[in-house]
Amino acid sequence: MTFRTRTTSRAAAAARPAVRTVRSAPALRPLHHRLDPARVEEIPFHTADGVRLGLTRVDTGEAGRPAVLLLHGHTASADMFLLPETRNLVDVLLDEGYEPWLLDWRGSCRLPYNATGRRYTYDDVALYDLPEAVRRVRDRIGGRPLFVVAHCIGALALSLSMTAGLVPGLAGVVSQGVFLTPKLAGSTSLRMSVGWELLRSRIDHIPVDFRTVGLWSKYTPLFALAGRRADCPDPTCQMLHHSAWGSGASLFVHEHLADATHGRLAELLGPAPLWIVPHLRRIAQARTVVRWHDTDHRYRALPPNALDAAARIDTPVLLLAGSDNGLWLDSQRLCRDVLARRQPQLDVAYVEIPGYGHLDSFIGRGAALDVFGHVVDFLGARS
Ligand SMILES: [Zn+2]
Repeated sequence: MTFRTRTTSRAAAAARPAVRTVRSAPALRPLHHRLDPARVEEIPFHTADGVRLGLTRVDTGEAGRPAVLLLHGHTASADMFLLPETRNLVDVLLDEGYEPWLLDWRGSCRLPYNATGRRYTYDDVALYDLPEAVRRVRDRIGGRPLFVVAHCIGALALSLSMTAGLVPGLAGVVSQGVFLTPKLAGSTSLRMSVGWELLRSRIDHIPVDFRTVGLWSKYTPLFALAGRRADCPDPTCQMLHHSAWGSGASLFVHEHLADATHGRLAELLGPAPLWIVPHLRRIAQARTVVRWHDTDHRYRALPPNALDAAARIDTPVLLLAGSDNGLWLDSQRLCRDVLARRQPQLDVAYVEIPGYGHLDSFIGRGAALDVFGHVVDFLGARS
């Protein structure tokens, strides 16, 4: 083994020509699906602020189909719409005559940015990711109708893009769980204010996969807390179903998941970064989607308050929610009521799915029967 002194290594560095820093472009984790691989076209792209994202088109071989862009929730990925073990939303859209497109925005667990990359807020998703993805889809589909179906934070960020006028002319939007009026369970808000604030000084994200953090680590108390009074012995499931990353909320109705889906929860949902909590808290306290950056001129295009700018919405909206949503409660019903009062000219519909929670509305084994019919009815009426 050889050791170089500081002086010699500095001299060597000075003698070498400066190396240009090249931004690394890590590959996306492969999608997990049972489609014909030849029909799945992956289109990676960079946003204007230099983040590499993933766009996926499912080629139907038929020109002229209306396109539907699917937006996952934070820490999930496009995989949530492609579950091989169930009849998934992409299957249903293909059978009903649509061309599915899937975006992995910067909060996707298929990308490394979510937990370990540069920090961001939902302003960045609304300003950079979603408008650029919509532009790229439109470049390919021309004048065909383009719908968006969005889940959770994907829908929340989309509401900010829409009220900023950054994605005009969509044929229709389906939002699941939450849209313009986020309302979190009381205990969730409280834990987000107190517990996560304490944690933020010590850890950077909340993991979901017990196997990757080990039995004894700084995360052990988190898993122990999530496991209290839990019926299911699986630590990942406890962290998500019973605790929603330590927030005290619940992400899905347990019995609605197929065994195979339950077994791959750690693949479907990644670690939750704690640095996003201040923006989420500000949104929860305002009960509407608010911009984080107040003084940075780059974000001027976004409205300070999306609900106040709701008159800019120029497309029909379907607000979808399980009656037992354990994360966003009845935010969607509230959104319907508020928009009916403040913006009665908008085309807004609300559908509640009896007995469903949050994420099971898309990844539940019965979602094709109980949920997706409402989505295709909405799209069909506007195609
Ligand atoms: Zn479980």
